[in-house]
Amino acid sequence: MPGHPEIFVVGDLAHVVDSTSGAPVPGVAPAAKQMGEFVASVIRREIVGEITPPTRPAFVYHDKGTMATIGRFKAVAAIGKHKFAGTFAWLLWSLIHIFCLVGFRRRVFVMFSWIWHYASFHKGARLITGSPRLRIKSPRLADD
Ligand SMILES: Cc1cc2nc3c(=O)[nH]c(=O)nc-3n(C[C@H](O)[C@H](O)[C@H](O)COP(=O)(O)OP(=O)(O)OC[C@H]3O[C@@H](n4cnc5c(N)ncnc54)[C@H](O)[C@@H]3O)c2cc1C
Repeated sequence: MPGHPEIFVVGDLAHVVDSTSGAPVPGVAPAAKQMGEFVASVIRREIVGEITPPTRPAFVYHDKGTMATIGRFKAVAAIGKHKFAGTFAWLLWSLIHIFCLVGFRRRVFVMFSWIWHYASFHKGARLITGSPRLRIKSPRLADD
């Protein structure tokens, strides 16, 4: 944070430009994890006097691939030169996401939570998109 070298911003809150490619780092979980690990190493090295704020290294993002679910049991994935779609991509997406979680308890919790959401058709996350004015009929406007 400008003027506050003791404050770091990582993950979705940060606008980061990759120091090698010059491209903006995407707002995804692997990027947030890598930024967290990077900042932890900077803090550790500064505590032992190895580096100082002006000599901090630049952040380099390692793109391990892109994955997204696009429905029940369907996903798309691009890992290196390989591209997958459909149920296989969804299985890959699920396994990799559970594997990347921190700690065994969290992995088991998320796995059972997903099974429950898939079996019960319960919506885990909801997004509000577009303008609510277009969908919600205002009583005041209706009277006009
Ligand atoms: C619907 C959806 C699907 C996504 N799918 C994918 C995907 O498939 N793959 C992927 O890589 N990324 C995906 N993302 C993006 C990914 O979730 C984020 O990039 C990642 O979680 C960012 O991590 P973060 O630590 O910056 O923030 P978060 O994971 O949002 O963590 C911030 C934490 O801070 C807590 N917090 C907030 N305010 C306070 C406060 N005042 N005090 C204390 N705690 C607070 C929050 O509760 C939260 O736990 C998805 C995001 C969404 C919304």
